[in-house]
Amino acid sequence: MRYQELSHWMSTVDEPLAPLPALPGDTDADVVIVGAGYTGLWTAYYLAVADPTLRIVVLEAEIAGYGASGRNGGWCSALLPTSLPALARRHGRPQALAMQRAMQHTVTEVGRVAAAEGIDCDWRHGGTVLLARTDVQLGRARAAVDEARDHGLDPDDLVLLDTAGAAARCAAEGVRGGTYTPHCAAVHPAKLVRGLARAVRRHGATLYERSPVTAIRPGAAVTPHGTVRAAVVVRATEAYTPMLPGHRRTVVPVYSLMVATEPLSEATWQRIGLADRETFSDYRHLIVYGQRTADGRLAFGGRGAPYHFGSRVSPDHDREPRVFAALRRTLGELFPVLGPDVPVARAWGGPLGVARDWSASVGLDRSSGLGWAGGYVGDGVGTSNLAGRTLADLIRGVESELTALPWVGHRSPRWEPEPLRWLAINAGLRVMSSADGAEHRTGRTARRATAFSHLLGH
Ligand SMILES: Cc1cc2nc3c(=O)[nH]c(=O)nc-3n(C[C@H](O)[C@H](O)[C@H](O)COP(=O)(O)OP(=O)(O)OC[C@H]3O[C@@H](n4cnc5c(N)ncnc54)[C@H](O)[C@@H]3O)c2cc1C
Repeated sequence: MRYQELSHWMSTVDEPLAPLPALPGDTDADVVIVGAGYTGLWTAYYLAVADPTLRIVVLEAEIAGYGASGRNGGWCSALLPTSLPALARRHGRPQALAMQRAMQHTVTEVGRVAAAEGIDCDWRHGGTVLLARTDVQLGRARAAVDEARDHGLDPDDLVLLDTAGAAARCAAEGVRGGTYTPHCAAVHPAKLVRGLARAVRRHGATLYERSPVTAIRPGAAVTPHGTVRAAVVVRATEAYTPMLPGHRRTVVPVYSLMVATEPLSEATWQRIGLADRETFSDYRHLIVYGQRTADGRLAFGGRGAPYHFGSRVSPDHDREPRVFAALRRTLGELFPVLGPDVPVARAWGGPLGVARDWSASVGLDRSSGLGWAGGYVGDGVGTSNLAGRTLADLIRGVESELTALPWVGHRSPRWEPEPLRWLAINAGLRVMSSADGAEHRTGRTARRATAFSHLLGH
């Protein structure tokens, strides 16, 4: 496989992406981590830094960054898949606020480690602007700000923007207002994950690539090349989890797809804005997300690709011409300055992991030594760092502010068996994308989409 073809990001790292050696045979370790995306690597990183004597092995089926971590939109944000009110209903307001504050701090922490470890990942802590382009979207922007205040966030955490304020940050067509939060950085996701893999190895952990784990059980991770025996086994396999025995219904893989334009001229950027490389989106139902890359492109993505029966994950699903065309069309609508033929240089996609109750979680079962983290939906770039720090504390038996956060030890219910999963998820996707069109035409809230948004939105 040519790993460069996985995404625009993987094609623009300054290294050949040659796989490291596979697991040479049966091995003993203190901790074995399955999966070398952000989750597995952050866990290894914080463990190795905290206790250099630990024998840490990371097993990766392909190469570090092969999964969503090498393909995403590069929003290192404080977003969680569960809204603040939903967290407050489940755990109480103080705990929900503690979780939100921990996420805000996480954005700074990722930037800190990237700088400390010399990971040049085009980091720019410029915040996020969310645009409102219809009355209905303006209503959602106002409600988001009210909700944030009501749950204890500061005025600066989420600012309501009027037309001029929003257009000054991102001059999309028809912008009427929006919100701005400082809690997000734009990153080159593949440079981050590949740099992190190097840092993890520098700190003494061992990474074996092309070493697919076929079974995880207490005390062992099994591969065709041999078994790693360790007291702690961490599952960091996110959207690929259903392929592991016993995990078919733990999370569902949902595909998100992206396009990147050719580098745009300075004159075009003058018209669009995003001068601080703010990440951007709008208040529609079916998520879209974008960033201005360090080399002057628009990288833009969205959901809408179908869910595949039986939670299948396959490179065939990374490309969906219908979704690529829709993304290109949406970019043209947002930024007419791009012209009728938006200059797309590359298109790609990848699977992310969704838990049945839309809640990310992290935990370690002390009796079995089995640990896990994931279910981030589209918010794993930042959240995986919090997960890695938390797992490092849990594994070392350290009680900390992190291990007291409400997502620790949370167990999401399992997804329904097929064909129910397939029917429900694809129906939800269809309702939400048609609702956006209907809202744009009628100017009224599409109620059916609101009902589904707990399933497929934030
Ligand atoms: C197109 C796209 C855009 C996104 N945009 C954003 C964004 O802008 N901001 C944001 O916060 N989040 C975003 N996300 C989500 C984010 O990328 C993920 O939540 C995050 O990367 C998950 O990291 P991870 O390490 O848990 O999983 P992954 O990066 O998927 O890593 C899992 C790794 O485990 C390996 N693996 C799986 N099974 C096995 C096995 N059996 N044996 C050995 N290895 C195995 C895989 O090969 C893979 O390398 C996006 C996702 C996609 C697909």
